[in-house]
Amino acid sequence: MDQFHKISDIRSCLHHHHLKGIKSGFVPTMGALHKGHFSLIERSKSENDLTISSIYVNSLQFNDPKDYINYPRTLDQDIKLLNDIGCDILFVPEENEIYPSLPCTGFSFKNLDTVMEGKSRPGHFNGVALIVLKLLNIIEPENVYFGQKDLQQYTIINQMVEDLNLPINCVSCPIVRDTDGLALSSRNVLLSPAQRRSAPRLYQALLLAKTMFTNQQRKEKIYNKIVSLFQSDNTIGLEYFEMVDSKMLQPIQDGSTYNQVAFCIAARVGNIRLIDNIIL
Ligand code: AMP
Repeated sequence: MDQFHKISDIRSCLHHHHLKGIKSGFVPTMGALHKGHFSLIERSKSENDLTISSIYVNSLQFNDPKDYINYPRTLDQDIKLLNDIGCDILFVPEENEIYPSLPCTGFSFKNLDTVMEGKSRPGHFNGVALIVLKLLNIIEPENVYFGQKDLQQYTIINQMVEDLNLPINCVSCPIVRDTDGLALSSRNVLLSPAQRRSAPRLYQALLLAKTMFTNQQRKEKIYNKIVSLFQSDNTIGLEYFEMVDSKMLQPIQDGSTYNQVAFCIAARVGNIRLIDNIIL
């Protein structure tokens, strides 16, 4: 696997590949890699001639400075695992390459970033969009791969790519879970053993909501049931639980029209914030 730290170096390497018409897939990450990330790499490998990944912990998307400091960083191990899985190129940009100065460019995504993660984490999607757009401009892949785990992130980036006519196909990949249902996340390693035992409750709540919805229970009943579950559990704090249209991300009311229902949840286990979702 070739590794690059400078924008000019990876650009000139990829330039040669692009000239030869080689089809490339890109998997942006913040490192501390797990099987969820590897599923995206595998998908890219199966659909492209060349797979590029990046590892960059983007300070601009962290609204909580402590979360940024504590974010797990396991670069040596990540490099080894990416090598083993057959990733072709890794981009690990230096901080001053990405942000030589504080950027002025900002984004607004109308209704897409005023709900859920956007509401809970002001400025988060502005930071996400900035780094992803920078990386897409540097890498210029044909396909870019994201996890459904970050449903709102995928929806916003997909919209941005469409709005800006970028010639890139955004692919959403299924959520990879642990055997007890907990969605894999880099932050899971920060959970204490007791917290780790509580964490699968997010997915359990999503499954219960799904069953209730399939049994034609009303939205209010589903919502109240999920909220009460978390109220009776002091190891875990519900931040939001939403029933939304999976494409528009707007809350669905009983009787309103929608494409597909998604249940989305965010909760805190101690200081660790976890998110999950399920599309019906
Ligand atoms: P991150 O390193 O957390 O920024 O994630 C990089 C990419 O991996 C994003 O597109 C995530 O949605 C995706 N991802 C994270 N966790 C999972 C998972 N459990 N299953 C599938 N994709 C995931």
